Amino acid sequence: MIDTKQVSQYLEEAGIPQRETVIEQLDRFAALLVQRNKAVNLTAITDPEGIAVKHLIDSLMVFKYAHFPQGAKVIDVGCGAGFPSMPMLIAKNDLQMTFLDSTGKKLAFIEDCLETLGLEATVLHARAEEQARKNVSRETFDFAVARAVANLRSLCELTLPFVKPGGCFLALKGKEGKEEWKQAQNAIAQLGGKTQELFAYTLPDASERTMILIKKISQTPTKYPRASTAIMKKPL
Ligand code: SAM
Repeated sequence: MIDTKQVSQYLEEAGIPQRETVIEQLDRFAALLVQRNKAVNLTAITDPEGIAVKHLIDSLMVFKYAHFPQGAKVIDVGCGAGFPSMPMLIAKNDLQMTFLDSTGKKLAFIEDCLETLGLEATVLHARAEEQARKNVSRETFDFAVARAVANLRSLCELTLPFVKPGGCFLALKGKEGKEEWKQAQNAIAQLGGKTQELFAYTLPDASERTMILIKKISQTPTKYPRASTAIMKKPL
């Protein structure tokens, strides 16, 4: 499906080399995605090069910019078809990954992939703002990650309540990331976060990306997250 040598080389160049077995599993995942996409709309990107760069490499860039300790507990908020979470788990299968999304058909795909690839994870069919109010999830994760879910201002309210103080939220953004980050300063502070770093980089196809690392420095006030209409219409 994907050009495994090329993916391997891209990752090498980005400083995130992977074992051959990982590259093979990424290839199997890509094939499963394309196959399921014929029946269920999971992605607009279906060409092998696009999947390799815009989905797999893009997801794995988290390992370039953040250190995930052995067994770290991670939640992907609005995981969709598993980006960035599935490539992350394939590459580092000691992670305790939680896939969260409000769309059941996407999670059915995630469950099938986990079984086919022999991976273990938690799959949560829920809205982030409701799940984050539950004790079982609130401030229990070392990391939250999210890609293409909402503007950073709103996204912080959907993600930071999951992260324990001392943990981190990684937002995977396009080139709009820096502008969104400027507008999210109040939201980050209100929710107990502090920006650690902002990385601007390009993928092998020259598309521009921004990775925003937000550290959780204090507990999120219990009034957050609010209901979804307030989060989207009146972002902090
Ligand atoms: N992260 C994936 C990616 O980068 O390919 C999926 C992106 S897709 C554009 C956005 C996903 O976020 C959808 O699957 C949607 O169901 C989910 N989503 C949006 N708002 C959500 C919320 N409040 N709680 C849970 N999932 C949400």
